[in-house]
Order: sequence, then structure tokens, then C-alpha cells
Amino acid sequence: MRFNTKLLHQNYGPDEKTGASLTPIYQSTSFSHSAEEMENIFKGSEYGFTYTRINNPTIEAFERRIASLENGIGAVACSSGMAAITLAILNILKTGDEILSSSGIFGGTYELFKDFENFGITVKFAKDNSIDAFKESITNNTKLIYIETIGNPKLDVPDIKSLSVLAHENKIPLIVDNTVTTPYLIRPIEMGADIVIHSTSKFINGHGNSIGGIIVDSGKFNWDFNKYSMLKKFEKYGQFAYLAKLRKGLFRNIGACMSPFNAYLNNLGLETLGIRMERLCQNAYELAVFLKEFDKVLSVNYPGLKESPFHDIAKRQFGDKFGAILTIRVGSKEKAYKMINSLKYATNITNIGDTRTLIIHPSSTILAESSDEEKKFMGVFDDLIRICVGLEDIEDLKEDFKQAIDRL
Ligand SMILES: *Cc1c(COP(=O)(O)O)cnc(C)c1O
Repeated sequence: MRFNTKLLHQNYGPDEKTGASLTPIYQSTSFSHSAEEMENIFKGSEYGFTYTRINNPTIEAFERRIASLENGIGAVACSSGMAAITLAILNILKTGDEILSSSGIFGGTYELFKDFENFGITVKFAKDNSIDAFKESITNNTKLIYIETIGNPKLDVPDIKSLSVLAHENKIPLIVDNTVTTPYLIRPIEMGADIVIHSTSKFINGHGNSIGGIIVDSGKFNWDFNKYSMLKKFEKYGQFAYLAKLRKGLFRNIGACMSPFNAYLNNLGLETLGIRMERLCQNAYELAVFLKEFDKVLSVNYPGLKESPFHDIAKRQFGDKFGAILTIRVGSKEKAYKMINSLKYATNITNIGDTRTLIIHPSSTILAESSDEEKKFMGVFDDLIRICVGLEDIEDLKEDFKQAIDRL
């Protein structure tokens, strides 16, 4: 089955009881069973739904579809992308452990990693994306490597295959945030990643109507239960140990589940992921090439452009598609503001992966809490604008950007 057919048919069928063509919204907190059944479900010898904080048919339909698209053995849907990142990491780490992260990561994740420091989990950032930079930062306490497929908003592209080899040589898992690329561009598990996470609020939902996140496990990582001692209790689940620990442990106990209604909207949005991504990538490429022609645009950063230092690795990993996000520099904060306020079709919003073109000034918003040095490290400058291209007709976008640039 190919990608678009998979989106519509894999792990999908009419509702068994009613024939409803879409998975219904089971907006119910709990599910009733006989006393014996209930015991068996809690014991794990029988499968069933009990309480929506643990599992739910609408949410499970979404989890199964994402797990199969990412070639994982299972998935856990969460209340947000941040919840997914938090749970994916805390499921296996404890005080004294270290995370090794790429530097160009999403601002929210960067802030979360600072929060982890309060719990005694240290985060080290590789100074660039070279394997050597990661290698020199690994210590005996490093318990995972964390990267994004395309750093947001730095738009750098780490080499997933090489980093997975490095991680596995050190007997630690590689966790990859695939939000920006989605399984349409890349399935990190095929390249050696162990755990994939998404903010489903973005391209997967696709219409800006539901905050959500998801964790997918490849089931391939060979956990050392002495090193990852909190998984020991779940050893009996074999390759499902990580997912069992999540579902029966931290995920259940912290209570960051997705709502059934949001899962319904995500299931619906997911069906058009392929055609949306195809159009978004095409629009982003055309806009990037168009913006390069203006003297007032000092630089255009997009992995799809040949001059991007990450073009070759992006091409190797993603093929001929490079995502919907580009950044430009226009010379000053004032000019950036003027441009943002002059655009008709690009909405100034702190989000990506919507149907409409979205634009933001990251330095004064997403990274407002960060120091100048931190911003520079994350590739953010005062005159930088992030553009997440939408599904509009490209000629309209070009006209709109042209009139806004002419006013600078
Ligand atoms: C938005 C985003 C997140 C956080 O997701 P939320 O759903 O907003 O909590 C994490 N990673 C990346 C790359 C993102 O773009």
C-alpha cells in the first residue's frame, strides 16, 4: 500500500457495530465490564477499554494509524506535543541522567529541558550537527539522544542514520521529533530511530483545531534493564516494555491523555496529510526561490535550496520534498514587524502546519524568555521571520509577499 492509500485504508474500517464510515467519538470517561472481565483487563490477560485517561476507542484508532504510518509497534496519544516529549523522556530517565540534544530544537522543548534541570536531569547540547560534536558530549550518564528531523526554526538537518549508529554503540536510544516533516517526508524508524514523537497539533491535524501529541515506539531498542531500571518491572512485556511502562505508568499517572473529540479531528485531518504536504512543500519551495530575488530580503533559509548547508543531507533523508517552513532575514526588527503587519494572507500566529500561511517573529515571541546568546545558538536573530507556508495559490502568496517587501 502506498502512502495516500495507507492514510485512508490502513488500520481503518467502518465501525463494526454500526457501519459508521468514520470512527465515532466515544466521548465517555469509562467503559463497563463484568467483574471477571474487569479483573482480566487490569491484569492484562484480556484486552479492553476501562477509563479514557488510559485508553479509548477513538484515541486508539488514531494511535494505530500513526503507529503504522511510522512503522512502529504501537503509540500513545497525549494531550499535547510537549506532553508527548515530557512523557517519552521521563518514561526512561531519572535524577542524575543526561540528555544529549541537537541545538536547533523547538523553543518549547528547549525550555522544557531547562525545567528538567530542576529534577536533576542534565541536558547537553551538541555544538553542531556533526557526529563528532555529539560524540564528544556523550558521557557515562547520557541516557538518550534527542533530535528533530528539521530543527525549528533553525532549519538544520541532523543525520539520523549516523546518529542512530552512535546512539546504539553507546547502548542508548535515539528519540526523534518528526513534527515538521511528518511520515510523508520521512519515517525515522526506518533510519534507525528508536522512538518518534509528534506534536499532532501541526501538520497531522493540519487545520489548527486541536492540540495533541503522540509517542511511537519502534520496539527495536534492546533495553538494558539495569541501566533503565524503571523499565525492569515491565520486562515481561518484551519488546512492548517501553509502551507498557508508559500506558500503565507515567502516562496514566500524570494524566496527559488526548481527548476523544481531538482524536476524532486528528483522525479526520490525517486522511489528507499526503496531499496537503505535497502542496505545502511545493509552495514553500516556490516561495523560497521567489524571495531570494529581492535585495531587501538579506537571506532565505530553506533546506530545499541548494545553498542551504543542509541541502545534501535533507535530500538524502527526505527525497525531493523539504517541508513547509522557511525563514528570512530582512535587516532589522522594525522591518520584520513592518513586513508581518503588511501581509494580507500570512497570519501572524504562533503555530505551524495549518491550512493557511502563518508567520511569526520568533525572537520576540517563542524565544522571548531566552537570552541573546541562546537565541543565536538556536539560529534566531532580531530580523528573522519564520514563514510556514499554507495551501493558498502560490501566485497569490507571491503577490502578497511582493507588496509587503516593496513597503520596506
Ligand atoms: C509545536 C511543536 C512542539 C510542541 O507541541 P504542542 O502540541 O504545541 O505542545 C514540539 N516540537 C515541535 C517541533 C513543534 O513544532
